[in-house]
Amino acid sequence: MANSGRTFRYLIAGPCAAESEAQVYETALRLFVLRDQLPCPLTFFRVGVWKPRSAADAFCGAGEQAFPWLRRVTEEFGFSVCVEVATPQHVETCLRYGVKTVWVGARTSVNPFAVQEIADAVKGNGCSVLVKNPVIPDLKLWLGNIERFEKAGVDAVFAVHRGFADRKEQRLRNAPVWEVPVALRVARPDLPLLCDPSHIAGERGLVKQVAQTAIDYGMDGLMVETHATPEAALSDAAQQLTPEALSEMLGSLVLKESSQNPDELLRRQRELIRDIDSQIARLLAERLSVVEEIANIKREHNIPLVQPSQWNTVVRNYEQYALDDPRFAEFLQKYLDLLHQYSLKMQQ
Ligand code: PEP
Ligand code: MN
Repeated sequence: MANSGRTFRYLIAGPCAAESEAQVYETALRLFVLRDQLPCPLTFFRVGVWKPRSAADAFCGAGEQAFPWLRRVTEEFGFSVCVEVATPQHVETCLRYGVKTVWVGARTSVNPFAVQEIADAVKGNGCSVLVKNPVIPDLKLWLGNIERFEKAGVDAVFAVHRGFADRKEQRLRNAPVWEVPVALRVARPDLPLLCDPSHIAGERGLVKQVAQTAIDYGMDGLMVETHATPEAALSDAAQQLTPEALSEMLGSLVLKESSQNPDELLRRQRELIRDIDSQIARLLAERLSVVEEIANIKREHNIPLVQPSQWNTVVRNYEQYALDDPRFAEFLQKYLDLLHQYSLKMQQ
């Protein structure tokens, strides 16, 4: 990645949603108390005022009444507040209460019309915008959304990686698909790129390892859901951390490049390998289920199992990855033979 040094420049923390004045205040107060133990000053206090929920009857945020609570946080603790917006009316309300940093959530981010309307609404108002990745792993869409805000002439744009909906991901709430934020960083090395490990993990106990991987990939900081009493939260209760747990988690992250320490270097590489291997295994399983479908079609239509021309197409498709390396080409050849034998066995 272009920015390979593990630095920590941005920290965004705060509850998934504003629930009451006391909950917002207490969360902010405890973050304020811990400020000297955090790896960098709190860039923004995040808080959802309007919540995009899957279930129609779920808590959908406190709405406009929450803005005076947020103002108190800024006045008493000096925190800049950022709020999720999904419509131009949300932007208009934020501006009316002096909130000039907003984020576009993963669900809104899939809809270019909605994003453009938000970009038009923030235009000329001195706003900063955090753009979360769309729920589908579409890099162009994410980049396009970012450009819409840049074209609108906002003060600053941040990209926030929060993972992708993928029913095959079982361990985490959202699949990180790290190659997407890596590709974003390669395309736009100038852009601050943060990770939201809370929505990727979906569970408190998994937030740290996602955060460490993000830092290992050279991301510039984190957005972490932080709640005074997470178990009692009205949304995303399983994944939120108390301010104290946040501070402890951040303190335990390995932030410095430790090129002298081979154990640390190996740990990082092994984590990357583990992630790549999971993806390979997942894709192989997916390939196998397609092979089964093909077998059914062939059976139904009396088509012979082996079709050399089709297999040659598969082999040619792989050739482009041989990278002019004869040893790798030989490895791919062996791998393909094995794959073919196995697929045929499956089809019998
Ligand atoms: C959130 O940050 O609370 C949120 C709803 O995030 P996302 O859009 O990433 O799901
Ligand atoms: Mn949330």
